Amino acid sequence: MEDDQVGEEYLFKIVLIGDSAVGKSNLLSRFACNEFDQHSKATIGVEFQTQVVEIDGKEVKAQIWDTAGQERFRAVTSAYYRGAVGALVVYDISRKSTFESVKRWLDELTTHCDTTVARMLVGNKCDLENIRDVSVEEGKGFAEEEGLFFMETSALDSTNVQAAFEIVIREIYNNVS
Ligand code: GDP
Ligand code: MG
Repeated sequence: MEDDQVGEEYLFKIVLIGDSAVGKSNLLSRFACNEFDQHSKATIGVEFQTQVVEIDGKEVKAQIWDTAGQERFRAVTSAYYRGAVGALVVYDISRKSTFESVKRWLDELTTHCDTTVARMLVGNKCDLENIRDVSVEEGKGFAEEEGLFFMETSALDSTNVQAAFEIVIREIYNNVS
């Protein structure tokens, strides 16, 4: 972490990973801009967005990286992971296959990042209760086994989006301060 004369400054790189179309880009736009895009295209994507949050009176910059859709080709590069200190591993609660992929994403994360990386399992689209395919217990149970934080979110109706990012940011902060 960088220190300057004025006070401590924190910049945390956090990556969003998970299968295509689970809602990663919308989680980020909800968190950073309070926006949701029903028709968001996988190809449109900035590299990262920076969001400032205050923790214990200190300014913390979270630099959150989003894929540009390359996860469709299982080709998220090591540059994407480089320097990450936090990760949100996202699945879609209405598509079991995306939950089954989580293990692979965690393995990839372990390959590229330090073991101390703060990890949160995110079951997104919890607004789709009527077509739920992964129970809360399954998500929670898996997270416990793997030692991950867990939260169900909805980028559509904003449920827990702020909270999910903030828990990861706080955990990173606790690790470094
Ligand atoms: P990504 O490929 O993981 O970045 O997923 P996107 O953010 O592009 O979202 C894929 C699709 O899921 C889009 O049609 C979104 O509108 C939709 N979506 C994203 N988040 C939610 C959510 O929380 N609830 C619902 N119902 N749809 C969502
Ligand atoms: Mg995307």
